[in-house]
Amino acid sequence: MSIQQATLKNVNQATNADWQKRKEAAFARGLSNVAPVYIDRALGSEIWDIEGNRYIDFATGIAVCNTGHSHPRIVAAVKEQVDRFSHTCLMVSPYESAVILAEKLNQLAPGDTPKKTLMVTTGAEAVENCIKIARAHTRRRGVIAFNGGYHGRTMMTMSLTGKITPYKNLFGPFPSEVFHAPFPIPSHGISIEEALKGLDNLFKVDIAPSDIAAFIIEPVQGEGGFYPVPDAFLQALRKLADKHGILLICDEIQSGFGRTGKFFASEYAGIEPDLISVAKGIAGGLPLAGVIGKADIMDAPLPGGLGGTYAGSPVSCAAALAVLDIIEDEDLVQQANRIGKYFAKRLGELQRKYSNVIGELRVERGAMIAIELVHEGDISQSNADLTRALVAEAHRRGLILLSCGFNGNVIRCLPALTITDSMIDEGIAILSDCFQVLTSNH
Ligand code: PMP
Repeated sequence: MSIQQATLKNVNQATNADWQKRKEAAFARGLSNVAPVYIDRALGSEIWDIEGNRYIDFATGIAVCNTGHSHPRIVAAVKEQVDRFSHTCLMVSPYESAVILAEKLNQLAPGDTPKKTLMVTTGAEAVENCIKIARAHTRRRGVIAFNGGYHGRTMMTMSLTGKITPYKNLFGPFPSEVFHAPFPIPSHGISIEEALKGLDNLFKVDIAPSDIAAFIIEPVQGEGGFYPVPDAFLQALRKLADKHGILLICDEIQSGFGRTGKFFASEYAGIEPDLISVAKGIAGGLPLAGVIGKADIMDAPLPGGLGGTYAGSPVSCAAALAVLDIIEDEDLVQQANRIGKYFAKRLGELQRKYSNVIGELRVERGAMIAIELVHEGDISQSNADLTRALVAEAHRRGLILLSCGFNGNVIRCLPALTITDSMIDEGIAILSDCFQVLTSNH
């Protein structure tokens, strides 16, 4: 049978299970998927699979479709752009949309210092470039990242990521001169003071502050478990950076673009990062990423030192300009706060009912919402089994959920910032049913 015949055969009679089997045969197993659900179409906060099943989406492709799936203004912008041209390469023959987008991003970044932007394609590439720029500017080698942080799957970003399994094991050796410090999570017994002591210790044991180019931190840890950095810690890090001539990089790839109820999550602490890595929510599903930073720092690399074939693709730039307009016109930053408050109320009801397994709700950062699952109401006893079972059961019942967490025991809700209360209710009703059927076994 030819490949074309095989494709047609499966399209005609396809089930999710058939496609999962084909996927497992065709793909390296390293690229796994959360659930065997094959998507036919998606709109707003709803997704339909190839069997006609409907799902409420609390995942948005991992904080990418903040403006909802297939927002008509993004669809129109992309179509219009593809009709004109789809690629000339920003490094060869540039176009106006990239310049306009860079100007807007420079305005949106926190703080008064003039900013410049670099565009690339993926989040990991944005983080890589933050390190390149920081090293070029400071002429220093060291980088300090934090336990439990996630920064990507390339070599340097794996080195920065503060969790071995599944991200790092089997893949070393990694680029050196990267050190990890404790990330403050007061509810897990790591106070701000402890975390600062950890940094001080690192300065004495591993690397002198005068050799450190940058700190890199997520203002809300994403894959690590949706733990917001306490404002006082980010402020202390800013002070420490200034004292020692170290740059402060905020990785806002998951937390940016209105997700947390501020345009950038670092705004909560009222600090001005030196460099910000962005991706995901920037272009509503089109691949685009970037670094926004203080202009003199951004200009440290020499011409030609930064870039990439697809950096700032015109199709992605068109989508990103539409995203920024939608965020403003539909007041999505405030919507994130409204959504967060509504989830807090509804999940609070669930927590009261299942207080033995819901150890903590984290609902203080807009629509970046976490449910930490434990045994016997004890935050120190993580319940990864229940987390896995809830995510799988939710998919079976029509709710797309994601887990995260250093110990794999956090459910994260990242709905579109356009989601309605009634759709949140529908999703939480499914989640509630999942708790009901599963908690007797865990
Ligand atoms: N940094 C953070 C904070 C992220 O959440 C992610 C993606 N989950 C990345 C970096 C890597 O982005 P990408 O997958 O686009 O390379």
